[in-house]
Amino acid sequence: MHSLIDYKAVLNNSLAIKVDADYTSQACPHCGYTSRGNRPKKGLIFRCESCGFELHADLIGARNIAMRTLLTRQDWVSTGSLSATPNGSSAEAKAARLSRFAELRWTAESSQHHNL
Ligand SMILES: [Zn+2]
Repeated sequence: MHSLIDYKAVLNNSLAIKVDADYTSQACPHCGYTSRGNRPKKGLIFRCESCGFELHADLIGARNIAMRTLLTRQDWVSTGSLSATPNGSSAEAKAARLSRFAELRWTAESSQHHNL
């Protein structure tokens, strides 16, 4: 809940946080399973091959971006600075971020807030 408020505060201040968008339309926000096969026929509907979670693909991407933004914001608050490589120039640092992103889940609790 706190992080959701923080996220809005960031938006209201027009503060942009850059997050890696890799795989955001292929990663299941429910179980974390990431596969091209989650987008049958590359259509508009996301369907997780692992857990069966279904949603419009654009909403999948939006949710994953929102979760990544929250995580980046939390890092920022706790460390006092953004990533040492804010432009993602280091492939190693980017891989580390992506592996953390892969652990993000859109929980049942947070999905009740549809006002994102
Ligand atoms: Zn899934």
